[in-house]
Amino acid sequence: MKYVSTRGKAPVLDFDDVLLAGLARDGGLYLPESWPSFSAAEIRSMRGLSYGELAARVMRPFVEGCLSDAELAKLCTESYAGFTHPAVAPLRQIGHNQWVMELFHGPTLAFKDYALQLVGHLFDHVLRKKNQRVTIVGATSGDTGSAAIEACRDRAAIDIVILHPHGRVSDVQRRQMTTVLSDNVRNVAVDGTFDDCQDLVKALFNDGAFRDEVNLSAVNSINWARVMAQIVYYFAAGVALGAPDVPMSFAVPTGNFGNVFAGYAAKLMGLPIDKLIVGSNTNDILTRFFEGGVMKTDGVVPTLSPSMDIQVSSNFERLMYLALDRDGAAVDALMGEFRAHGAMVMPQGAWTAMRQVFEAYRFDDEATLATMRALKRSTGETLDPHSAIGVGAGLKSHSSKNTTVVALATAHPAKFPDAVEKATGIRPSLPPHMADLFERPERKDRMGNDAEALKSYVRAFTNRKSV
Ligand SMILES: *Cc1c(COP(=O)(O)O)cnc(C)c1O
Repeated sequence: MKYVSTRGKAPVLDFDDVLLAGLARDGGLYLPESWPSFSAAEIRSMRGLSYGELAARVMRPFVEGCLSDAELAKLCTESYAGFTHPAVAPLRQIGHNQWVMELFHGPTLAFKDYALQLVGHLFDHVLRKKNQRVTIVGATSGDTGSAAIEACRDRAAIDIVILHPHGRVSDVQRRQMTTVLSDNVRNVAVDGTFDDCQDLVKALFNDGAFRDEVNLSAVNSINWARVMAQIVYYFAAGVALGAPDVPMSFAVPTGNFGNVFAGYAAKLMGLPIDKLIVGSNTNDILTRFFEGGVMKTDGVVPTLSPSMDIQVSSNFERLMYLALDRDGAAVDALMGEFRAHGAMVMPQGAWTAMRQVFEAYRFDDEATLATMRALKRSTGETLDPHSAIGVGAGLKSHSSKNTTVVALATAHPAKFPDAVEKATGIRPSLPPHMADLFERPERKDRMGNDAEALKSYVRAFTNRKSV
């Protein structure tokens, strides 16, 4: 499989180079040159496969030419072996034709594990083959950092440094990162905000000499391999609930648009998806877009669902490229307009095409808590605030009257105990494998908001073995 950039000017790459590159050189995002497609009979033949087996089946066309079937199968088995539920992504029924898919049984209790566990294994595999090493540097406001650390810990070809804003992530989130004491992992608490952390990472990437010196890399949400791994659970839900013979819709709490875009990819690959229902919090740039056809930034306000507190949905560019018939120049022009003015107007035809598949709903904190409370009362199900927005969007959707709707639960309730307690009166406890999180020793380094100091730190860390 070959991959092309959404801006149309970067070189066409193979899977392994797309994996390591992340962002394309022209500023675009990589997508497969064409969509592999499964026939109805092929989808039927997926029934009964384990999650790992299904993952290999769904992703095989995307890695063709880079990984053998046996290599892919082994990586998939290893990636999902550590998940604590035997079904990996179990479904729970919450209504006549309403389901929740629990995507929080990985090592850090958020859905990001489903992609990052595989991406960690893929990085290690590809780098060893090429006899290379990388240094991953990333910034986190919470969930991504811990999922990336768990995915990269103890991998021979990877060093990883994660920055978080000192005192501004929750205790659970911080401890999920700082209690990983592996030799190839470092946590840096920066005196500043999440934006300061992101700017520091950008400063490192913008220093070409430093970038080459430590072989800098990233595993952020625009990496194609993360989207690819997320396609799998749409097929898992579909096949378990009767696809290809039963059509269904998915409701997805959305921030960077990576998760719900994977659902769109599944539709393009033959899974009979009717609607993709986007749920946003008060930071509702996507919901406003689907309502009016204009993408316009607006300041970010903190909410009960912090992993969706975003200003710009970076993966949306992939949908745009497809809706504009793969016209990279048109994407480039619109993104230029968006960068310059904080707003862009989608051409009418593209917007109409998107609206045939996507619906969107917004939930402020009060509506989020109300959904959590209502679900607890009617079904006993405890939802975290992000998952509640997905479930709430599914319940509001017009399609939910006569179509099977699967809402994606993206975090374990114990990751956001304060909100859950506020909504339901019950404080959720961490699952057994993390019950001692607050007794584990932490390791982190504190640093000012200083790019040069960070470079020295990263340099010393990556050179530690040769000292
Ligand atoms: C990252 C995250 C989201 C948003 O996912 P996107 O792919 O960015 O749309 C939703 N819920 C939780 C718990 C997350 O960690």
